[in-house]
Amino acid sequence: MISQAQIIQWLQSVAVVIEENKDYLTELDAAIGDADHGINLHRGFQKVFTQLVGVADKDIGTVLKTVSMTLISTVGGASGPLYGTLFLRASAAVAGKHELTNQDLVAFFQAAVDGVVQRGKAQLGDKTMLDALLPASEAFKQAVASGDGTIAGLEKAVAAAETGKQNTIPLVAKKGRASYLAERSAGHLDPGAASLYLILNALLVQLKSVD
Ligand code: ADP
Ligand code: MG
Repeated sequence: MISQAQIIQWLQSVAVVIEENKDYLTELDAAIGDADHGINLHRGFQKVFTQLVGVADKDIGTVLKTVSMTLISTVGGASGPLYGTLFLRASAAVAGKHELTNQDLVAFFQAAVDGVVQRGKAQLGDKTMLDALLPASEAFKQAVASGDGTIAGLEKAVAAAETGKQNTIPLVAKKGRASYLAERSAGHLDPGAASLYLILNALLVQLKSVD
């Protein structure tokens, strides 16, 4: 179970984590893109941080929808619409809720995956954020089906996201700016997979800190 307050604290912590990793994410993007991923996400989540005050007592769906709208209007690039759609679909999956059960979280992850796929048309192995998100979603679903609690499930999801992120290194990019490099994109970590992992890991860290 995750409370509305924990969701707000997670999103605040994401702003901090993205700030701490701004240069790292931008360096990853410098290798196979245009060196702006950290800058883009930092701009977006700084704005999210300030917007959270206005939705402090709203349901989780409304909170996540505000995140979505803020990211769409501030991040830009490919990742702005993609993260915007991820949070928009996730918000719809948990509309009106003030706490999330494990089943709600399964729906949240599935909606996030579906949103990214519909928006970006990427498949697993295309060297994108989906390579971290999809394995995380599957791992969480399996963990819950086997009786795990929220934290145990999220530990498996984060581990799967981390593996998925690392697995992007040898891949040749099939989507986004990195695909312009074709074979030369191999040998580098995908920036979007790295940011996705950081955002998800921040949820686990947040939940464990108040456990
Ligand atoms: P841009 O490439 O426009 O500069 P960013 O640098 O902010 O945007 O984000 C790049 C990241 O976006 C990539 O590392 C990748 O993970 C993700 N991405 C790009 N295109 C797609 C897509 N079609 N589907 C899923 N993710 C994508
Ligand atoms: Mg870029």
